[in-house]
Amino acid sequence: MNLEEAIQNSWRRIDEGQVATYIPALADVDPYQLGVYLFNIKDNKRVCAGAAQTRFAIESVSKVISLLYAIEHLGLTTVNQRVGTRQTGFAFNTILNMEITRETKPLNPFVNSGAIVISSLITEENGQSPVDQLLAFTRKICHDPQVSLNEEIYQSEARTGDMNRSLAYYLKAKGTLTRSATSSLETYFKQCSFMVTCESLANLGAVLANDGVAPWDGERIVSSAAATYAKSVMMTTGLYTESGTYSVRIGVPTKSGVGGGLVAAAPNYGIGIFSPALDQAGNSIAGLDLLERLSQQLHLDIFKY
Ligand code: GLN
Repeated sequence: MNLEEAIQNSWRRIDEGQVATYIPALADVDPYQLGVYLFNIKDNKRVCAGAAQTRFAIESVSKVISLLYAIEHLGLTTVNQRVGTRQTGFAFNTILNMEITRETKPLNPFVNSGAIVISSLITEENGQSPVDQLLAFTRKICHDPQVSLNEEIYQSEARTGDMNRSLAYYLKAKGTLTRSATSSLETYFKQCSFMVTCESLANLGAVLANDGVAPWDGERIVSSAAATYAKSVMMTTGLYTESGTYSVRIGVPTKSGVGGGLVAAAPNYGIGIFSPALDQAGNSIAGLDLLERLSQQLHLDIFKY
């Protein structure tokens, strides 16, 4: 598989997208970047190309990590009581299902309302704040001790995050948030501001692809049930309104973030991709084009049986 050639081809799609501008600090990111890191866990081979070592804001890919952390710490029953596992036909900051059907839980852990609920479930433990716990866990599951919080992006998110604030207060009023709206939002905004690389995300994908076990040292990081749960939700709703589209075109559990990151957990492969120009739904446009090429060439589509 020629990664450089695949990158060159997918690069052409960048002009069709735009960087996220609703978070001012993300608007400054150069859109003309595309990187990929591929971790083959079967042969223990790693290859990368393009902007594979560039750091970028993890944004919504952090929702996979906080979901796994919450499942590990509180159990699936508690998580299921608070957040659904249903598809969304709406944008990532939707709350429509709760308004229309009078449900008290968000559709799934990957819409913002669901992710804010998941973050609120994590509470201070042994003097460690929820953010400190999530940062430590992110470093571990991404096998990347360099992951750190970008203060400028956090401040930018917090300053302009009125939509997320409205979701949090709404959830609080519905009795769905276990912590205060402000402290839940602080955790959520901060986890979105963690800085990762394609390699960090490929490692995360590799743990999921390896049933919850770190392929680099054999340590189980999350249970098999947690890994399966996360991959299922990634498949059905990891790419928001376009999840169905890419389920057909790519067929690999994938999660996107508006920083331009993608994590994919394919049979035998963990994949991390970065390209900040986004489609209308908030997914990396060249990144998904590249993932589609990888899926075709490496036969990664889980529905081809
Ligand atoms: N921090 C972003 C937000 O809350 C994350 C959204 C995303 O990556 N889809 O709006």
